[in-house]
Amino acid sequence: MLNEVEPIMRITDIIRKKRDGFALSKEEIEFFINGCVNNEIADYQTSALLMAIYFNDMDERETVDLTMAMLNSGDKVDLSQIDGVKVDKHSTGGVGDKTTLVAAPIAAACGVKIAKMSGRGLGHTGGTVDKLESIPNLRTDINGKEFFDIVNRTGICVTGQSGNLCPADKILYGLRDVTQTVDKICLIASSIMSKKLACGSDRILLDVKTGSGAFMKDFNDAKRLAELMVKIGNSSGKKTKALITDMDIPLGNAIGNSLEVIEAVDTLCGNGPEDLEQVCVELAANMIFLAEGADLENCRSRAVQAIENGSALEKLAQMVEAQGGDKNYVYDTKRFKRADFVRQVKSPADGYIVKLDAERCGTASVHLGAGREKKEDKIDFAAGIFLNRKTGDRVSKGDTIATLYSEHKEYLDSAEKELLSSFSFGDAPPKAKPHILASVE
Ligand code: URA
Repeated sequence: MLNEVEPIMRITDIIRKKRDGFALSKEEIEFFINGCVNNEIADYQTSALLMAIYFNDMDERETVDLTMAMLNSGDKVDLSQIDGVKVDKHSTGGVGDKTTLVAAPIAAACGVKIAKMSGRGLGHTGGTVDKLESIPNLRTDINGKEFFDIVNRTGICVTGQSGNLCPADKILYGLRDVTQTVDKICLIASSIMSKKLACGSDRILLDVKTGSGAFMKDFNDAKRLAELMVKIGNSSGKKTKALITDMDIPLGNAIGNSLEVIEAVDTLCGNGPEDLEQVCVELAANMIFLAEGADLENCRSRAVQAIENGSALEKLAQMVEAQGGDKNYVYDTKRFKRADFVRQVKSPADGYIVKLDAERCGTASVHLGAGREKKEDKIDFAAGIFLNRKTGDRVSKGDTIATLYSEHKEYLDSAEKELLSSFSFGDAPPKAKPHILASVE
């Protein structure tokens, strides 16, 4: 009998196989991920494979194998020291997306345990950790026992992703960011779900954004992404649900870190913009639904009540205090430092605003200092944009349509130019679109 010897696995063969359109085996995917984490595969080879995946895709089995390999590339958080059902919520990223700051305290006020790890801003999209850090002294490096204690005591803690969680995703994400390979369903699904599974919550609610400011510009792509992530979550034993929500225009009026915290507080006080309140109530209701399996309509009423009776605002203040921040900033948002330079942007035309490109708004906000152009850039917490007018509004030439905030006068001109390019004007109002487009269970 002939003994066939297995050939030695080589990354160059794996790149060629994917380049030529073949599916990779579980072993090949694990070899790739382990090689990345152990520094045995060069960045240019990882980038080449990412580009091959971008063009030739991965099927569902490969995507699940990639997710599991990334999940197993580092530590997993064990939340068993926290009593009750823990629910995580994750947005695929957008502009003006401060939903965690609103929906999580609402759900926590209704008894859901939130032990959440959030990220920083990425490209034109903002991140919850940066927003939270605009509250003086608030810490987002809370780990281990302190993290469990805060959740057991207050019901909610939102911290940064720490330690050695999914190191493979950190490497892949860094390279995807600079090789234009972010917006691929199999890569987004494996990146998000490996992190969500590593974070250890019992239930997962995904907010999949679609539109000009989202990674998934097209609704059908967003739906495919949502379905795939829900399938990966459920097949890993975590009850998972996704809402597909609109990100064709920025959510709410504020873009930028402290501006968004202020708007989140306004929303918890019942004075927020209608789109933001509606999306946050739906997210919070679904978090309660996932935790308790209760009737969804009843969950919605409880979420609204938590805003009306002030318990959600109180929950945010408790969380801020437990994480070392000054809770007086929650009760009096005038304490936030205002940017040194403020400019009003005037409408160049009469008519209706028919389009407001969210990605360009996000990019303008990054130009003002609210995000990072390079990884090592420092954020200006007070920088950003307040949209005085949005899609569907009628304006006259010279009306203020937005207000820019920056600590650097020289940033204002380019940001104004970028922001103005995001507005389109027309003679008739555009058709109104729903904020919540679909749900996937
Ligand atoms: N958010 C992530 O964590 N990963 C992606 O790939 C896209 C958005």
